[in-house]
Amino acid sequence: MSNRRDFLKNASFFAATGLIAANGCTSATSPAAPAAPKNKTLGLQIYSLQKELYDDLPKRMTELKDMGYLKLELAGYNDGKIGDVDMMTFKKAADDNGLTIVSSHVNPVIPGQPFFVEYKRDFLPQVREYWKKTAADHVKLECKYLIQPMMPVITSYDAALLACEFFNEAGKICKDAGLMFGYHNHHMEFQRMIKPGEENKNPNPWMPAGEQIQDIFIDNTDPSLVCFELDVYWTVRGGNDPLEYLKKRSDRIKLLHIKDTAVLGQSGLLNFENIFNQMYKNGIQDYFVELEKMPDGRSQFEGIKDCAAYLQNASFVK
Ligand code: MG
Repeated sequence: MSNRRDFLKNASFFAATGLIAANGCTSATSPAAPAAPKNKTLGLQIYSLQKELYDDLPKRMTELKDMGYLKLELAGYNDGKIGDVDMMTFKKAADDNGLTIVSSHVNPVIPGQPFFVEYKRDFLPQVREYWKKTAADHVKLECKYLIQPMMPVITSYDAALLACEFFNEAGKICKDAGLMFGYHNHHMEFQRMIKPGEENKNPNPWMPAGEQIQDIFIDNTDPSLVCFELDVYWTVRGGNDPLEYLKKRSDRIKLLHIKDTAVLGQSGLLNFENIFNQMYKNGIQDYFVELEKMPDGRSQFEGIKDCAAYLQNASFVK
């Protein structure tokens, strides 16, 4: 009987010290890992840092530069501010450290409507105005991409098609301003919607019926106006293999979110080597590390530092 209890005790010790990951793989951030070389250019979605970014913005930007995060994707734009900071003050702090603002996550605000809203065609004029002002601001930030990160409420195939009309409109406005509009997925986009009139076509009741919303979005938006940012973690959570999805949609996916359950490479859920190899094959130039709330009480900055070390040490990252 020494045994299961002892084994569990030892296993939890190894897990607590980070020597094994959930799937038994060696952690990339074990204490024995060599110091990370800082010669690779990495991208970061600043949502990862939450409020920690703003306690001393210039100092934090210098810390990001030192980790190799030279490309930023913004979150938290609101009427000329990033977080609570004037957007040009934010840009100066980035510029002063040689950091480039490549992209920005912005969800259109429709006056009088909730954040998660089911689109109606009547909303189009307000949404157009929102994107015009937002695109003009992002031109001042010298941003390349404006990305909608959240899906509206979609309860039918037709609702997904209507969302595509909104995305195409946003794409036109962004293109006129010199930006590229894109859409970022979570897991909900991999739900299936059945085309009206096709309800009874599937003879096997165990096979999923209908099309994935993400595919409806890709197939019904104009490639010259709308690109896609694939979040590899949420793709897995949506029951899809990001490698296969990258192969299948190589013409439309222009950006990636490199994300794991927490620190990159520790869960064993994602094969980042395959993902990076395919990313290079597809010619994708920009990716952004994203980190949700650290689960172990350590700071977000410590988390993204470990993510940077993982990528800086990974032979498959150029
Ligand atoms: Mg993401």
